[in-house]
Amino acid sequence: MTAAKLGSKLTFENVAKRYGAFTALEPVNLVIEAGEFFALLGPSGSGKSTLLGMAAGFVPPSQGRILVEGKDISRVPPERRNIGMVFQNYSLFPFLNVFRNVAFPLEMRRVPKNEIAERVNRMLSMVRLSHLADRLPSQLSGGQQQRVALARAAVYDPSVLLMDEPLGALDKNLREEMQDEIKQFHAKIGATIIYVTHDQHEAAAMADRTAVLNQGMVMQCGPQSQLYEAPANAFVAGFL
Ligand code: ADP
Ligand code: MG
Repeated sequence: MTAAKLGSKLTFENVAKRYGAFTALEPVNLVIEAGEFFALLGPSGSGKSTLLGMAAGFVPPSQGRILVEGKDISRVPPERRNIGMVFQNYSLFPFLNVFRNVAFPLEMRRVPKNEIAERVNRMLSMVRLSHLADRLPSQLSGGQQQRVALARAAVYDPSVLLMDEPLGALDKNLREEMQDEIKQFHAKIGATIIYVTHDQHEAAAMADRTAVLNQGMVMQCGPQSQLYEAPANAFVAGFL
């Protein structure tokens, strides 16, 4: 194993999103530290995916700036942000085997072939899938598919990894196993991770700090112990 490298610091500066007259997200100010495991926790419709989509570049903010290591990336297109993304529905390429799925982001970046093989193999061994490199996604379990998605999102060393309810499609036992897996993965690669969930137990089990969202507003942000012991309002107290 190579030494863990640190991810980048991500800053939301007064970032808001409106769709016409509807406000999906009130102005958000958050600093996510380099290498931090940060959770966005809130009920359905609270604005979690909107905030993540703005970091990824899929959702243009109505106002404010997003900074990576102090550099404004608000107008950088998604494919040039060096930010990795893992979704609930895996979104693997069904006609490519596991190896080619993970290799894809490197091929897009025209990385030399021998280096691709080395990096893909290292990543597959990290998620314990080396022995399944030739399989198609349809020949894998849900947990295995999610590990491929994880490997593919991290293979090009993104500065930040965004995960939108990545375990939502898995049953309870597998979900807990994958929580551990993702934590270990984070410890190995040291990337900054922003992890969206509506499950407070998941946030508690995984995150260094959690921001609780409700109706497009950040209600409170801090380590889980602080949210429990000193909830900022009735919503946070009730939700936890
Ligand atoms: P969450 O991920 O927390 O479930 P979202 O960020 O997806 O919530 O959505 C926040 C709010 O913004 C919701 O009320 C949703 O209906 C609304 N919204 C999301 N995308 C759009 C869109 N493209 N047009 C209009 N409203 C949207
Ligand atoms: Mg969502």
